[in-house]
Amino acid sequence: MHRDFFIDARKQLIINLKQKGIVSETVLNAMLKVPREQFVPKVLSKRAYEDISLPIDKQQTISQPFTVARMTSLLEVKEGDKILEIGTGSGYQAAILTELGAEVYTIERHFELHNQARILLSTLYPQHKIYSRYGDGTIGWSEHAPYAGIIVTAGAPEIPQTLLNQLDIGGKLIIPVGDEKRQTMHCVVRQDESSFLDYPLDDYTFVPLIGKVGWKA
Ligand code: SAM
Repeated sequence: MHRDFFIDARKQLIINLKQKGIVSETVLNAMLKVPREQFVPKVLSKRAYEDISLPIDKQQTISQPFTVARMTSLLEVKEGDKILEIGTGSGYQAAILTELGAEVYTIERHFELHNQARILLSTLYPQHKIYSRYGDGTIGWSEHAPYAGIIVTAGAPEIPQTLLNQLDIGGKLIIPVGDEKRQTMHCVVRQDESSFLDYPLDDYTFVPLIGKVGWKA
């Protein structure tokens, strides 16, 4: 596949996302820079810029671009923010976060996915602050807390208190919560030490968040 094909397809995707209501120029610009074709299996690369989720290894998915754009917009990332992602998957969401200037911490429970994403991200962004870890993200990554934002890219049965505890004051947790079939996106903002404002938003379908404070394997 020719390089220009991907560049044109990426530009077209940004137009589609605008038409679907994504307004954040910073998020759209970040998405214009990240080569999504490198985050999907080779056989699917020509479909990389369709606005759909695609299968990756371990029966997981790379999220639909609209969902990535929506969740990232909700996070309102500022240059230098420390952001924790639960569910590295392909590494695409982490790439968008690094393009926005965030210091990125990302956790994945499948070793193969963790390793593939780690290699790809360090190849594309050798100088960037992207730290990846293999393990259960439902308990967070307390050594680097507090975070300005935490983004969970798998469907949770409930909002994990462990993650709320690792938010900075004013920090946001973006997480889909519901049953195995359908989840509602929640944006939870930490007001102070002990109070949080929870905004339930639109509905999505994600692969399950499996772990100590998630679904059982
Ligand atoms: N952010 C990913 C991307 O850009 O490709 C999308 C990932 S996919 C929708 C969700 C990921 O969450 C899967 O790779 C899955 O293995 C992972 N996951 C599920 N439960 C997890 C947990 N407790 N800790 C870390 N990762 C988890």
